Formats: sequence, C-alpha cells, structure tokens
Amino acid sequence: MNIETIAIHAGQEIDPSSGSVIPPIYLSTTFERAEDGSFPHGNIYTRSGNPNRSMLERCLTALEGGADCAAFGSGQAAAMAVFQALRPGDHVVAPDDAYHGVTRLLRELMAPWGLEYTQVDMRDPEHVRAAIRPSTRLVWVETPSNPLLKVADIAAVAAIAHEGGAACAVDNTWATPALQRPLELGADLAVHATTKYLGGHSDVLGGAVVAREAGPLFERVRFIQGNGGAVPAPFDCWLVLRGIRTLAYRVRAHAEHAMRVARFLDAHPQIARVYYPGLESHPGHEVAARQMRGFGGMLSAEVRGGQAAAMGVAARVKIFTRATSLGGTESLIEHRASVEGPESTTPPSLLRISVGLEHPDDLIADLEQALG
Ligand SMILES: *Cc1c(COP(=O)(O)O)cnc(C)c1O
Repeated sequence: MNIETIAIHAGQEIDPSSGSVIPPIYLSTTFERAEDGSFPHGNIYTRSGNPNRSMLERCLTALEGGADCAAFGSGQAAAMAVFQALRPGDHVVAPDDAYHGVTRLLRELMAPWGLEYTQVDMRDPEHVRAAIRPSTRLVWVETPSNPLLKVADIAAVAAIAHEGGAACAVDNTWATPALQRPLELGADLAVHATTKYLGGHSDVLGGAVVAREAGPLFERVRFIQGNGGAVPAPFDCWLVLRGIRTLAYRVRAHAEHAMRVARFLDAHPQIARVYYPGLESHPGHEVAARQMRGFGGMLSAEVRGGQAAAMGVAARVKIFTRATSLGGTESLIEHRASVEGPESTTPPSLLRISVGLEHPDDLIADLEQALG
C-alpha cells in the first residue's frame, strides 16, 4: 500500500461503539477488568497503554514498515528511551552535528549515567567504522542532519554498525517516512520528534521509536515507556494522528517550496552558502537522491557579513516567523547559533529555515526584501 493510504487508514478503525469515523479521545486513565480478572480490550492503565496511543503507534509502525512502535511525550523522551535501553559502560557512536538536544542528552545526562559516546562526521561511513569499539552497542544516525544538512548513507552505516555488533537508530524527524524509510535501508530503529512534520501544525509535542523487529532492544524501550512514564497524553496522540493523515501531501509541498527557496538563495549575491541536499552542488546530493523520495523542507544558508548580517535578515522578514522548531505550515527562520548557546559549533552567519506551505513566490519575495 502507498504512504498516502497508510497515513489515512493504518491503526484507525471506525469506532464500534458509536460508528464515529474519526476516533474518539479516550481520556480514561483506567480500564475495567472482566469478572475473571482479564482485560478484554487490552487496556489496563493509561501509562502502560491507551487506545489513542495504540492507534498512533500502529499507524507509525505501518508508515515506517516496522514491527512495533512506542510513542513518547516528546522527541527527546524518545531519544532518551533508546539511550536508556543500553547499559552503563556501553558505547554509542553519534553524528558530530546531531540535533543539539540529543548531543546535550548524551553529554549532560547519559555520560554521567555511564554511557560512553563518540561523535563523528557521518558523511563518510568509514568514520563510523573507525569509532566502533568492542563495547559499541548503538550507532545513532541523523540524516539530513541539523542544522548543516549533512547526509549519511543509512545502508552503509547500518551495515558497519551490524558488523561491529551494534544496533543502528536513525532520527528520521526531518525526512519523515514520506521521504525516507530507514528500516528498509537496514536500520533497527527509526526515531521521531512527532512534534515536527508528523504533527505538522506546531501545536503538539511528541516522540516515537519504531522498531524493525521485536526483540530485546525494543522490549527495553517499551519497558522504559510504561515505567519511566514519559508518555504522550491521549489528546496529543489524537492530534499527531490527525496531522499524519495529510503528511504525504504536506511534505511533498514543503520539499517543492524548499527547492525553490534554495535555488533563489543559491543565486543571491548576499548569500555565501546554501545547505540543501536537493541542490546538485550539495556534497550529499547523490546519496540523498538514492535514499530519499524528495529532499525535505529544511535548509540552511550563510549570509555574507557574519552574525550581524544574518540577524539583520531575520529581523527584516515579514512572512517568515523568527522562531525555533520546524515542520509546521508556517515558515520559520532562526539564527541557529544563538539558540544552541555557547557550546554551539554552528557558523554564526547561518540561518536555518523551515520552509512552510505559504505560496513560494511570497516566501521568495519576503526573503528578497529582507536581503535588501
Ligand atoms: C525537534 C527535534 C528533536 C527533539 O524533539 P522534541 O519533541 O522537541 O523533544 C529531536 N531530533 C530532531 C532532529 C528534532 O528536529
């Protein structure tokens, strides 16, 4: 079945008690036992399982072509669950420009807990091979990466991870399963901030871990979900599922608009460099073209004149909103180094752009006036 159809139907049946076409929201925290003590509907208590969460998990499982999924209250909670599924003393290889929140998790929370990690530039899979140790249990991939749009070859990195006896997890937030399906490329886990394109409307926070197969690693993730308790509320699950129904169409338009904005910026004399894997000049273009069905809605650009010039452009835009995050219908622009704080390695002249669903002519006109 195609992704458009999966997104609208997977996990979502007509409600048998009311005939409701759109699922009701099950706010109940607790569910009745039968006289024999069993739970005939499979629900016990909302921290360990809830009908809205299970609909979302079934839909995400189908979208990624996996075996199972655990939904979380945020993307960070999902990433945290994957790291906590390992043991103190285990080693992780992660990208050098992973989403800064994930780098912070590793540095500030997981390293003190006993997890060891090495960050490498994953554009060359050989860097991953060189970082693997006997204690390596996980290779964490993010492609395209945040905010430099570095592209990693998922199939090559997953194969290296497996040779080294490690699992491979891919943060698929930016691409979404509409454009990239890591589990089909050999990854073991696909991780999401559903906050972004899956929710799609900047009004709900969520995360998810989808597993290619059931097994001890995913069992630990599931245990952490129910017992750690970083679970999404039923309404939040309902909102993400509502967003997913239009995912394929939204992402297609995001990518088409981003390509137009990237070409405009690439030709503009005030712009020193554009990072967008859809441009033939992008060093990861060929790998992206091979493993993605489109190049996504995110891009970064360096403005000539450094930080002040970049912040000036961000100050003059009228349709773009100066805000962090991505994947909503509205276009966002952000001076990334100031968001990431003093430890940031992002170039100070860099603006990160989430290209929205406004008409691309209007977006380009806005950037044109802001660039002056
Ligand atoms: C936003 C984001 C996260 C974190 O998700 P939250 O829902 O904000 O916790 C993780 N990875 C990537 C690539 C993201 O863009």
